[in-house]
Amino acid sequence: MTQKRLSHLHTQDATLDVGKDVYVYGPDVGWEKASVVAHRPDGILVQTEQGREKLVSPMEMDMASNTAYQGLKDLMELDVLVEGAIGESVLVRYEADQIYTAVGPILISINPYKTVDCYKQEDMEIYAEHGNTGIGSVEPHIFWTAESAYSSMKTDRKNQCILISGESGAGKTEATKLILKYLTWRCDSSGNSASAKPKDGTEEIGDVARQILDSNPVLEAFGNAKTVRNNNSSRFGKLFELQLDNQNLIVGACITTYLLEKSRVVHTNEGERNYHIFYQMCAGGTAEQKTEWRVSEAKQYHYLNQGGNISIPGVDDKKEFNVVQSALKTIGMDQEEQRKMFRILAAILHIGNLKFCEKSKTEEGIKVENPDVLKTVGELLEVDITELEKGLLMRTMFVAGEKVSIPFKPQEACESRDALSKFIYDSLFQRLVLRINKGMDKVDLCNLKIGVLDLFGFESFKVNQFEQLCINYANEKLHQHFLHHFFTLEVAEYKQEGVSVDQIQFTDNTECIKLIESRPLGVLSLLEEECQFPKGTDSTWLQKMSATLTKHPCYEMPRINDKAFIVKHFAGDVVYKIDGFLEKNKDVMQADLLTVLATTDSTLLGEAVFSMQSKNTGGKRASAMQTKKRVAGQFKDEMQLLLMLLEHSSPHFVRCLKPNEKMKPNLFAGEEVIRQLRYSGLLDIIRIRKAGYSIRMPLKVFVSTYLIFAQSMRFHKTFQSKKPNDQCQYLIEKSGVKLEAGAIVVGKSKVFIKENMHAGAL
Ligand code: ATP
Ligand code: MG
Repeated sequence: MTQKRLSHLHTQDATLDVGKDVYVYGPDVGWEKASVVAHRPDGILVQTEQGREKLVSPMEMDMASNTAYQGLKDLMELDVLVEGAIGESVLVRYEADQIYTAVGPILISINPYKTVDCYKQEDMEIYAEHGNTGIGSVEPHIFWTAESAYSSMKTDRKNQCILISGESGAGKTEATKLILKYLTWRCDSSGNSASAKPKDGTEEIGDVARQILDSNPVLEAFGNAKTVRNNNSSRFGKLFELQLDNQNLIVGACITTYLLEKSRVVHTNEGERNYHIFYQMCAGGTAEQKTEWRVSEAKQYHYLNQGGNISIPGVDDKKEFNVVQSALKTIGMDQEEQRKMFRILAAILHIGNLKFCEKSKTEEGIKVENPDVLKTVGELLEVDITELEKGLLMRTMFVAGEKVSIPFKPQEACESRDALSKFIYDSLFQRLVLRINKGMDKVDLCNLKIGVLDLFGFESFKVNQFEQLCINYANEKLHQHFLHHFFTLEVAEYKQEGVSVDQIQFTDNTECIKLIESRPLGVLSLLEEECQFPKGTDSTWLQKMSATLTKHPCYEMPRINDKAFIVKHFAGDVVYKIDGFLEKNKDVMQADLLTVLATTDSTLLGEAVFSMQSKNTGGKRASAMQTKKRVAGQFKDEMQLLLMLLEHSSPHFVRCLKPNEKMKPNLFAGEEVIRQLRYSGLLDIIRIRKAGYSIRMPLKVFVSTYLIFAQSMRFHKTFQSKKPNDQCQYLIEKSGVKLEAGAIVVGKSKVFIKENMHAGAL
């Protein structure tokens, strides 16, 4: 992935005079502090802090900060706002176990990969008392962001949303949980709200709060899994909305989920696991339960043992299963309902073990190799076994109005089997979310909401597919929202100060979003169109894209691989391999199997299948043959809704960063952090600043700093009697520097200076 740095210097810049301190950027280190030794024709010679000499291009350097070493709480107070200074400050704080840093209103959080002792009752009390007075009086903290959202909601009477972003393993879900912990405590409707809390440290919380908190272990058991990046990786996005009444107390909550990774149910890569719940059932089910499910150890199941290791170091699946069962009870699922659900989950494990083979050399068609497993599946799903078998072995088609059954090849039967498992699991997951919401959604009593959004971060792997395109599209939309928010704030500040805003020219990521979502000529619409053609394939889709999108500034064809395309995302270029796009987008399940499922005697499965069908077909009962709304189209609609919701709330941003890829404490890989900073959007905010006036000085500070140019004025009566803004204007004129128009502007309370002025000319 290629990423561009946002700022760079030129040889002529005064910042690069011999002896000046600079940041030098490099592939292994991220940034390094160094001082300029000499200017050479082929670059600038610097000596790093470690004493090494390096020849560097000015493009790879920035002026060094003199304040970053202090590990400032708010990076907006840095003397120079460049990548190196942000990295250095964050590192200084990380080494002192201060994992949070503010950048104006944004919170940076670095995953400590160890327990940090700052989430106690006393800590919550500090933020409840002082959190809304700005970062000056308290340390940056996730509770500070939560308190900001809460107090803004109280004062502005407006919905709030905390947007948490970062790549896999950066700490988004932990941050979400901490925010929920804080807010459920802060505005608990049981009467134990912050001010009335018992001082003895006991954590008494009300039923609603308990339900909200207990929905987490349930969602995590069903939607999280071990991946190579994170032992507890969320494989879905979620928006958690807390509902508050007119006294600002919690009355309920509602969860919306996005794009569960269904493929994991049937396939896991080396070193990864399926969803936690399956392993928990195998490890923690009682003898009685396991007899009912006919389930033994996890290693017996194809779906569970593909990744190699079936356990996670430090995690006791047995214990977790107890936690999940008791959480299911809290959210209102009684024993019987739980029983039904576990039976269906067990069925999925057995489905995965079904094997198919040719009937015989002479006889056409295939058969199930292990009929006992098929019997178990039928019993657990409560469907007719013969019908199930037929559905698994052949496909019904209509040829010239006649119904004909065409037998599958063994490989096709396996694919159809896996599609069945994915469908059942996804239906169950959606139903579980509905079930959780049924117990706690009190939208009628709700006055205002605080949302917490924990969405998958930007992804760029060696091989990127349909899922990555959806995820990165979502990230583009959120990024645009982020940029617009800060751009609007900037413009508002200029206006308030009476400064003309014509100077700010700022390009956002609209072009990339257009490339993906434009109709009829956008990546997704073309995909949708191709899915409707009976003869459409991944390749024909690519041909159409190449014919219509090649001129688009965000679209590119790779030079070597002709079965791929490149999207120039805000966070870097991503190469998407086209294989499987159409199939994943269509996501059709064998119609015959759907018909079988619809006949189930299990009310739970029946309901789950029905709610899934009505979701996909807009409420009409789907016929078995009916295909549903395509995945990308549906996801696009969901994103549209999410964005609408965000536009009607005040945002608060948390940027989670991963200090290293090894999931280790006390290890800071500068290069990794810089890479994440580049696509966190923080540097874009700096870019917005740089597009306008990146340096702002209160009038008085400006006068005292630049009085040096007019020493004689210091005691001059006429000068002293001038208003501060006239004093500033006078000093600017007196400096004798030839200024470009608009390079320095004196506002009502601050002087606005373009960055290159500060570094060199003044
Ligand atoms: P994904 O996108 O894969 O879901 P994520 O950003 O949600 O990743 P988390 O699951 O929140 O990442 O964090 C990964 C792990 O890092 C946690 O399981 C925990 O071990 C550790 N961790 C994260 N935040 C903290 C924290 N504040 N204190 C201690 N450990 C943490
Ligand atoms: Mg997560």
